[in-house]
Amino acid sequence: MLSIQRLHKTYANGVHATNDISLEIPKGLFGLLGPNGAGKSSLMRTLATLQTPDSGSIHFDGVDVLKDPQALRRQLGYLPQDFGVYPKVSALELLNHFAVLKGLTQRAERREMVEALLQQTNLWEARRRAVASFSGGMRQRFGIAQALLGAPRLIIVDEPTAGLDPDERNRFLNLLARIGEDVVVILSTHLVDDVTDLCPRMAIIGAGRVLAEGEPQAAIETLYGRVWQRSVSDAALADYQQRLTVLSSRLVGGKPQINVYADRQPDDGFVPIVPGLEDVYFLQLRALA
Ligand code: ADP
Repeated sequence: MLSIQRLHKTYANGVHATNDISLEIPKGLFGLLGPNGAGKSSLMRTLATLQTPDSGSIHFDGVDVLKDPQALRRQLGYLPQDFGVYPKVSALELLNHFAVLKGLTQRAERREMVEALLQQTNLWEARRRAVASFSGGMRQRFGIAQALLGAPRLIIVDEPTAGLDPDERNRFLNLLARIGEDVVVILSTHLVDDVTDLCPRMAIIGAGRVLAEGEPQAAIETLYGRVWQRSVSDAALADYQQRLTVLSSRLVGGKPQINVYADRQPDDGFVPIVPGLEDVYFLQLRALA
């Protein structure tokens, strides 16, 4: 269990990147959902002990993380947003190198772990290829392989699906879901579907604050009977946006289709729909505006 209490972080430029964040994160996959600039990376870098907060506390399974960052690092696997430059060495060699850095000094044990991780991340066939030549999805899977070295109990992955095609994304998310069965995995993303599809728990953050927290399905149920949909003309769109709580607008067959939040049917053209997490997300973000 990861317990975050009242975390504040203000950068030198005055940006309040985490503004009183408190979260209880159990085992399993936890989705941290928020738009760009919400403060996700700032929170994750703080959890990964790469930066210190101005105030607040973090505990992981009884360890006071801010007092004893080293103890947390021994249990941590981290995949940052920009995993950086890959040298032109094979996946096998590079993962072995990371394993040495991680302190896996016993040769046989290290080899076993490196090989098992390449299998688990579906990179075994590609193990002799240079990581520099990998596709985006393969690189992300390699990133997870390095994050899993040393069997960490807290895994933090920052925006891992950005830029992946749907097939690679699915493969990557399935891999994460399997890992999440035994340990705490925090997945930050601005993609609502990443969370809907596989996170038993989540938090929506915006402007450095927790806007909502809990089970995605429970959050969705709070909107039952309150989300309405209709197609509108381009000309009428601005008027609807002004008069009603328009959550989203997308083109369907070239015509705007809007989702509206309202206690009762706004006009005859609207039909009630089963809400989704996207409706929850946009409603929360509207409250910030
Ligand atoms: P996210 O990961 O959700 O996109 P970030 O944590 O990267 O959000 O950023 C939150 C806010 O903090 C943004 O306004 C961003 O510009 C600002 N920020 C992030 N890192 C720094 C930094 N090192 N120095 C100053 N401002 C930063």
